[in-house]
Amino acid sequence: MSMQNPFEMARKQIDACAKILNLEPHVHEVLRNPMSELHVSLPVRMDDGSTKVFQGFRVQYNDARGPAKGGIRFHPDETIDTVRALAAWMTWKCALLGLPLGGGKGGIICNAKGMSKNELERLSRAYVRAVYQFVGPDKDVPAPDVYTTPAIMAWMMDEYSKIAGRNQFGVITGKPLCLGGSVGRSDATARGGMYTIREAAKELGLNLKNATVAVQGFGNAGIYAAQLAESLFGCKIIAVSDSKGGAICEEGINQEGVCQFKQDTTSVINCPNTRSISNEELLELDVDILIPAALENVITAENAPKIKAKIVAELSNGPTSPEADDILYDNGVHVIPDFLCNAGGVTVSYFEMVQNMYMYYWDEKTVHERLDSKMTIAYHSVSDTSKKYGINMRKAAYVVAVNRVVEAMKLRGWV
Ligand code: NAD
Repeated sequence: MSMQNPFEMARKQIDACAKILNLEPHVHEVLRNPMSELHVSLPVRMDDGSTKVFQGFRVQYNDARGPAKGGIRFHPDETIDTVRALAAWMTWKCALLGLPLGGGKGGIICNAKGMSKNELERLSRAYVRAVYQFVGPDKDVPAPDVYTTPAIMAWMMDEYSKIAGRNQFGVITGKPLCLGGSVGRSDATARGGMYTIREAAKELGLNLKNATVAVQGFGNAGIYAAQLAESLFGCKIIAVSDSKGGAICEEGINQEGVCQFKQDTTSVINCPNTRSISNEELLELDVDILIPAALENVITAENAPKIKAKIVAELSNGPTSPEADDILYDNGVHVIPDFLCNAGGVTVSYFEMVQNMYMYYWDEKTVHERLDSKMTIAYHSVSDTSKKYGINMRKAAYVVAVNRVVEAMKLRGWV
């Protein structure tokens, strides 16, 4: 799958959904293409005195429902087709969550890891100068993504504000707290996923107290997910893994201990009171809930028949292949698809925009309650649609999201 052009993949998903919804050809055609995109060249003075020219992109896939929203990636392998695909997926994710936003994405081809802080700052500011006319709080609001950080968001917001001649905190999200960031952003993705797991468990009649959980990918999203599953619901986390391998303990893995161990040794393997387990074995464990939180394409046609979990909650993007999806559906495994399960991040980003406009900041409890409400409503819209059409949860999520975008385009008179 890593070889597959992501935009071709995104288009195939739209095509499949267009068939289910019986979309008119011209409506389908609009959805297969970005509404607008900007390609920029960015000359940047490097620390050694030379000037390097970087290529950057910003794509607004569809803004029928509101300003575009989506991160900016700094990556050496960035391509316009990756940005287009990610912008399309943002369009569906925002629509699914009922956010009054469209989908966008940006990127710069660069090796951020090999650049100094000053070079990164000059590149970030150059990007904003180049896309200034294209973005804005009521037009297109970027955010962090791979290799972009709150510090980079602060420079970008500052550059935009300087050009505008006034503070424009709402031009970008994922900012540091003291510059208009939102509380509750750091664990928002995992927390949002927990709310969907809770609703799924209710539907399946699964008691979450002492329900067993395996987490593949003990990183940002995975660590918060394990901690929250334990603290919110009393689940028992029996296995966790990272790129080096996994650890299992049927009696439950102490979360504080394993986090400290990972911090000290960079991995979870050989954590005290656990046995080693491979990443492949972890996926096939007989657990109540499996949380993929690492890479794409880990559940395939090969291992899908062996998945024993009752719920697969996809915190990572694209962990399940389309063939595996059908197998899991036939076997009664309840999949909470990625762009529903991991939508907590963009939802709290939207809350950040709202707070910036309001100039009034919420406390953590308010953020959690509002996130819960959005995720719960979105979960049930997907689940109801899945039952209504007799389709799997992923296809149902597409149906809900695409329907909403089409409705907005029709009401605006675009199609
Ligand atoms: P991260 O880099 O913090 O964590 C990834 C974890 O996966 C690391 O522990 C790494 O060791 C592990 N890993 C890497 N290769 C592995 C392998 N082959 N087998 C098992 N584990 C492996 O990244 P993250 O921010 O936690 O993101 C994880 C996934 O969640 C990605 O797909 C990302 O797109 C998605 N996601 C994250 C967020 C967020 O807010 N962090 C939001 C939406 C989606």
